[in-house]
Amino acid sequence: MFAEIIAIGSELTCGSKLDTNSQWLSRELESLGWTVMRHTTLADDMDAIVSEFRAAAARAQVVLITGGLGPTLDDITRDALALAFGQRLIRDPESLQHIQVLFAARGREMPERNHRQADRPEHSDVLFNSCGTAPGVLMRVAAHGEPMSVELDDQEISRGCLIAVMPGVPAEMKPMFTQLVRPVLLDSGMVLRRSVIRTFGFGESDAERLLGDLTARGRNPEVGITASEAVISLWITARSQSAEEAERLSQETCQLIRERLGESVYADSDDELHDVVAQLLTLKNRSVALVEGATTGGQMAMWMSENSTVASVVKAALVIPGQWDTAALRTVGVEMPGIEIDKPDDWLNAATVVSRNMRLIHRVDFVLLSSPFYDEPLDSGVVVRRGHVAVSTPKETLSFDVSMSGNLAIFRQRAARTALNRLRLIVQHASLVRNASP
Ligand code: AMP
Ligand code: MG
Repeated sequence: MFAEIIAIGSELTCGSKLDTNSQWLSRELESLGWTVMRHTTLADDMDAIVSEFRAAAARAQVVLITGGLGPTLDDITRDALALAFGQRLIRDPESLQHIQVLFAARGREMPERNHRQADRPEHSDVLFNSCGTAPGVLMRVAAHGEPMSVELDDQEISRGCLIAVMPGVPAEMKPMFTQLVRPVLLDSGMVLRRSVIRTFGFGESDAERLLGDLTARGRNPEVGITASEAVISLWITARSQSAEEAERLSQETCQLIRERLGESVYADSDDELHDVVAQLLTLKNRSVALVEGATTGGQMAMWMSENSTVASVVKAALVIPGQWDTAALRTVGVEMPGIEIDKPDDWLNAATVVSRNMRLIHRVDFVLLSSPFYDEPLDSGVVVRRGHVAVSTPKETLSFDVSMSGNLAIFRQRAARTALNRLRLIVQHASLVRNASP
């Protein structure tokens, strides 16, 4: 049982507005067990809208449409709906009265052009708008486009398509969907259980190789892979007729994923890596200090100050924006020669001395550091940005290289996550001696 969503409005196709309605509606439909197969965004163009309405109704059992219900001439969704399914437009007296009452309540005369907002195809029902003037439209058509009654038995329903047209304004669309469309959406007969597993440490293709048959199309549960800001997320969608079975299938696949990807899995939820690290540190009663060069440039401090839980594990956070010369190192309380960033030994030595000092002053268990970065032009013309991060524990200071070409923000996020992930692994395994001598 498939659903489609159509967003209408030239403001969407020209790029001045983002279609957030379809995203919201997709989540709602998924929670009801519907699989959304297609999102379509259309300009206010009659031919395009009419042909898409027909095509969508022939493919899907539910089509949700938003936008184009306004009073102005460019809002043509009602006319297109009538034309697509060969129906006359009629003016609905109750809708008209509702719009008139709204204008009267605002102390305004109802302009002539608002009358057409009360129009609907003759074989359709009105979706009352509790928050604005534009009523929605609910209609059912057979796969070949003939009108059907909205009240049907299950067998008839499964052969046709339910079409709901709602206003584009999100504040009007959402209550209309929740109050009036959701209840009449026929039972999809399916329960969808969606979960997410977040991993850090390898690329999309590595993840796919390790997951093997789990990512095969058509498998139930389906496993999808997305990469964003160096985090690989695995989306598990289990479908079943019963909630218990969907849950069981989902758990089983999640367990297989955890077995195959091992320690790179850091969350079974939407949690960010820094949240997970803060939870671990809190649980083990440990604390951390941050000393960031331009490689992370304050990214760790930004994440670790997002809320009081993450902030509570950070005892100090400093950023050294430029080179780590003698003067800069003095700002973090150490007297030593400046480092040459392309010399890894220089960096590791500075990271060790700085973290020893931070541990003494701030009485922390761990210090996370990052170096300045430098750009290295390769013969191919590509410029690679290189930097280091370090994790300092009471026992040792470990350094990790980060290199990437392209966007600085992503480089920083990758670097910050490299440091946080190392700390996560260390804390997970450690049986630490509290504040041991550095
Ligand atoms: P309309 O129903 O076409 O008169 O749309 C009215 C307003 O709702 C537009 O100007 C947009 O600001 C907003 N809107 C329309 N469609 C969407 C959409 N798909 N997502 C978010 N906002 C929308
Ligand atoms: Mg519009």
